[in-house]
Amino acid sequence: MSLLDSTPSLTPASQLYAALVDALPDPILVVVGFERDDLTGRRYILANAAARELLRITAQEGMLLSAVRDPGVLETVDKALFDQADAEGVYETTGAQSRNLRVRARPLGIGAGGARMALLTFHDQTEARRVERTRVDFLANASHELRTPLASLSGFIETLRGHARDDVAARDKFLGIMQAQADRMARLIADLTSLSRIELDEHVAPRGVVDLVLLVGEVVEAAAPLGAQRRVKLDWRPCAAGQVFVRGERDQIVQVVQNLLDNAIKYSPDGAAVRIELTSDLSDLAAAASKEGVPRLSLVAPDPSPETYAALRVVDLGPGIARQNLPRLSERFYRVDGQKSGARSGTGLGLAIVKHIMNRHRGGLVVASAEGEGSTFTAYFPTATAPEGVVKAS
Ligand code: ADP
Repeated sequence: MSLLDSTPSLTPASQLYAALVDALPDPILVVVGFERDDLTGRRYILANAAARELLRITAQEGMLLSAVRDPGVLETVDKALFDQADAEGVYETTGAQSRNLRVRARPLGIGAGGARMALLTFHDQTEARRVERTRVDFLANASHELRTPLASLSGFIETLRGHARDDVAARDKFLGIMQAQADRMARLIADLTSLSRIELDEHVAPRGVVDLVLLVGEVVEAAAPLGAQRRVKLDWRPCAAGQVFVRGERDQIVQVVQNLLDNAIKYSPDGAAVRIELTSDLSDLAAAASKEGVPRLSLVAPDPSPETYAALRVVDLGPGIARQNLPRLSERFYRVDGQKSGARSGTGLGLAIVKHIMNRHRGGLVVASAEGEGSTFTAYFPTATAPEGVVKAS
């Protein structure tokens, strides 16, 4: 006696089987056919809820052609019915949300009167395909980004071995360019390594507690030489509270501040100031990020739980970013057109790194910017109580 036969009489085994099939998340059809040439004779005699939804049918049974018209799927069914062999195919739905499904057909044998039966299952692989495409694009982008400085290095090596061999001035100039290209490759590899490490433990909540006032002060100090080199003044305004404790991993928060500050300096015009402000105990996040009349976009939405946040705002007077480019800022390797080359060129990974770190910290990231209006990046960190042994400054 099977387990199903012995289940309480309230639920006969057949009903339980039907409920079970209906509850399966993947679409399932049982198909019957008699003659290979009789297309209209193929019927489905069972369609679970997922199959009815996928194929937009209401009946539990009907003519197969009224449910599926895709020639590839029909061929897959025929192989199982008439060759009694397992078969596989692909089914794509069109419309606003197109889906890609793997179809498998399995023969279920030949019944009374020569009725051939087969089981048809569908497995949605849309998400897996999307992830795979992202991975392939990422690899293609990463190798392209590495290939460019590498090609330049090879070119200069060749020149230095050839006609520039005895030209001292040219040699110095080329070595300078080669150094810059090697530095670029090193930066790219460091950012790629950092990104993969962050992604690896993005779902592990950070455990430390950090004083943001102290941390930002240190990063601003360390950025002073870059600011001086670009003749950009760093205007650091810590909040009145003196100390602001946030939950997080120190090194990763340093990376966030560094990336936002580096960008602000990098895109600032000569002689302009970059303002770095910190506000604590915020609960109205939208108001904190606002900049009068300038489009604003949340690149990372903060956790909706009722926490208070500390907001770090980095404000620059650079070229600003057009509204249509805002949503793509945190994509890997994305750079706004026209800002790709020259001394400013970065890796295009900085904001992607910031986004993943803010996700991990259950914080938020908002950009407010418009062309010609400068940019304001605001990072929100959930606040924490002072760690034991630390006396909170009043
Ligand atoms: P990058 O290393 O190129 O700076 P990011 O991921 O940090 O990469 O930034 C992506 C792109 O966003 C930059 O290439 C630039 O086009 C734009 N961007 C970022 N920050 C600013 C800013 N403060 N002002 C203007 N454009 C910016």
